[in-house]
Amino acid sequence: MKNYDNIRREVLETSHWLVENGYLGRLSSGGNISARVPGKEIVAITPSGIPYFSLKENDICVIDLNINSIEGSLSPSIEAPMHVGVYQHRSDVNAVIHTHQPFANTLSIINKPIPALFEEVIVEIGHEVDIIPYAYSGSSDLVANVNSKLGNLCHCYLIQNHGTLCLGTDAKQAMKNSELLEHVAQIYCQALATGEQIQTLPQSAIAHFKEMRQLRLK
Ligand SMILES: [Zn+2]
Repeated sequence: MKNYDNIRREVLETSHWLVENGYLGRLSSGGNISARVPGKEIVAITPSGIPYFSLKENDICVIDLNINSIEGSLSPSIEAPMHVGVYQHRSDVNAVIHTHQPFANTLSIINKPIPALFEEVIVEIGHEVDIIPYAYSGSSDLVANVNSKLGNLCHCYLIQNHGTLCLGTDAKQAMKNSELLEHVAQIYCQALATGEQIQTLPQSAIAHFKEMRQLRLK
């Protein structure tokens, strides 16, 4: 159990940060986190049904992109096909975080994509946080719905009536994107609650910061 210690530790530390900051429940096993070994078709992912407070490094499953076990005795998260689908479609992504974080999830139940509101969100996450249509957790329909949205090259999505999907070039970036998503989702929820008209950035600014993002992704 030594070959993939680093990637397992990365997934465990990311899980702990998400729990400590309210993105995942301590007593629940809802949500799931994975990271890909850069340049390899190997993924470390949280197991199914183990509460986060008791999660240990050796509990993290190591699988290939066909979800065959490489290391670990527990079953991988039932959302493993969704994580693997992201890695197969996005070579820029080496970490995937799925949570049920409250403000982003509020928008998922009113089916509101987050438009271009702030410069740093366009640069870090993308020009929109789109909604992935609902399908049962762990289903092939959900995987297909996720895959159908990945072409916009954004790093965050809302899954309708379910939660979020945040991506990153590594676990640290995926975590930062989860935090930034929750921040902008909170502001957007508050703004929607006023009933006032919401100002998005001007088109010229959206084009400018989209270009900045493209340069960063290269
Ligand atoms: Zn979920």
